[in-house]
Amino acid sequence: MKRKPLPALPIELEEQLEKIKVSLERQEYARTKRSAVLAGVPNEQDRTRIIWSALVNFVNLDPDDEIATFRFQAFTSLCCFRLDELAEDPMLDLRCFQDIDTEYSSTGRAVKDIFRSRVRALRKEIRMMLVWLARPNECPPVVRSYSLEFLLEHGSDSAIEFSIDPTDKFDDEGEHGVPLLYWKRVLGYRTVFTPAAKFILDKLEQYHDRALTVDEAMPLIVCKRSECGKLAVARRGTRDFCSDSCRSLYRQKAKRQEWAAYMRKYRSGLY
Ligand SMILES: [Zn+2]
Repeated sequence: MKRKPLPALPIELEEQLEKIKVSLERQEYARTKRSAVLAGVPNEQDRTRIIWSALVNFVNLDPDDEIATFRFQAFTSLCCFRLDELAEDPMLDLRCFQDIDTEYSSTGRAVKDIFRSRVRALRKEIRMMLVWLARPNECPPVVRSYSLEFLLEHGSDSAIEFSIDPTDKFDDEGEHGVPLLYWKRVLGYRTVFTPAAKFILDKLEQYHDRALTVDEAMPLIVCKRSECGKLAVARRGTRDFCSDSCRSLYRQKAKRQEWAAYMRKYRSGLY
């Protein structure tokens, strides 16, 4: 059915609405761009890929590296945005994370310092969980159970506090009201890792529902070069290595080993 045209709005109101729309789009663009830079992938524009890149770039760093907190901020900011587009960036109010708020209330430490130590403390478990997602069958059962528990503890629905209020005027067409029965806004998160854990659990659910392929839901690999072992986001055509340099180093080593094996065989034939 063809939609009826909206009744004309006074021109000033149209202009105001247009300005709001443009400013929201700008904010969204700015947040995506900023997160891409913090994630270490400044040219990436796809929000989902920025999140995955920030996650792997975070766990690949030394926990004491200051840059690690920027990576963490990048995925947290975007994961919060997907849960509530109208909410401010949580990095501006770290006390929306219950773990930070609780520690702040009992110790009075600066929230930024608490954030840094939380990030450092979580890195090992986050890495373990991501390796499980990249190689589900190669993890010991205890790691699988632990990783899933970790995800649920941080990212289950109960880890997010919402406010839900009914809308005043419902209209399916959105012409004389809003096409929603209620507004849902995020009030807070159980931990600093809640937004990202929720993102990952949602991806796994989407895969289980067959809305995403396994590569779309968990685009993660562990570098095949054992000396590297870094996590990476899979790209088209690269299923094994974190980078081109790891691929060529791996091939060089394989060639050297082949050559050594050939020489051993050759010499054993001589003597
Ligand atoms: Zn590598």
